[in-house]
Parts: sequence; C-alpha cells; structure tokens
Amino acid sequence: MSDPDCIFCKIVAGQIPAKKVHEDEELLVFHDIHPWAPVHVLVIPKLHVATLYDVGPEHEALLGRMLALAPRLMRQLGVEDGFRTVVNTGRNGGQEVFHLHMHVLGGPRPWARG
Ligand code: 5GP
Ligand code: ZN
Repeated sequence: MSDPDCIFCKIVAGQIPAKKVHEDEELLVFHDIHPWAPVHVLVIPKLHVATLYDVGPEHEALLGRMLALAPRLMRQLGVEDGFRTVVNTGRNGGQEVFHLHMHVLGGPRPWARG
C-alpha cells in the first residue's frame, strides 16, 4: 500500500511538502520540483505502485482516472492550447522515482525538456 522509503509516499503522507493542485481519495497531483515546462504537474496514485510494469487488472480504473483528470487540471491551470502526458517506466525509460506517476506538461514553448 505504501513504502516508507518512497519519496512520493512521503508526500502522500504529508511528511514532505508539495505544492498540491488536486487531491481526492485515490489520486494526488502536485507541481514538479524541477519543471520542464511552464506548467508541470505530477499525477500519482496514493497507493504505492512502483512502475507501469507493476500494474495489474485491479489498477486499470485508477489509470483511467489519472488520464481523465489531466485535461481538467490543465484547464484549471490555464493551459487551453495543448499539453503532453509522459509516463517514464524503468531504468531505460528514464524513471527516477519508483512510485508510478504521470507527468502533465503544458504552457507556452520553448520548454526546458521534451
Ligand atoms: P521520473 O524521472 O521518475 O519520471 O520523474 C520524477 C520527477 O519527480 C522529476 O521530474 C523530479 O523533478 C520530480 N521530483 C523528485 N522529487 C520530488 C519532490 O520531492 N517533490 C516534487 N514536487 N517533485 C519531485
Ligand atoms: Zn510510493
């Protein structure tokens, strides 16, 4: 359910501060600490799931909710002209934090990355 050594589990538990933009029973969204774009938030499940490789059928609805939340959040944050969603998976996928998260990036270009 939760991993005591995981930085995003600590954010979920309130042990590490984050600039939250959305919270519900299952999901938390906060601003990335090193944004690549003018608006860069991370959508995470509160449940500790390490990577997309660890997703099972029981997580399919959760993944759907993560994706469906993105356009609503972007509109709320003033991003009306398009955005990117990125899920890095595993070492070769460039994943650094092993708690499943979806980057949602938007705002005027150029961006720092991507
Ligand atoms: P990954 O490379 O795993 O897909 O992305 C992890 C992201 O988490 C990075 O963009 C990084 O800036 C962000 N991040 C890492 N630690 C923290 C933190 O303590 N707080 C916040 N808000 N973002 C973090
Ligand atoms: Zn975690």
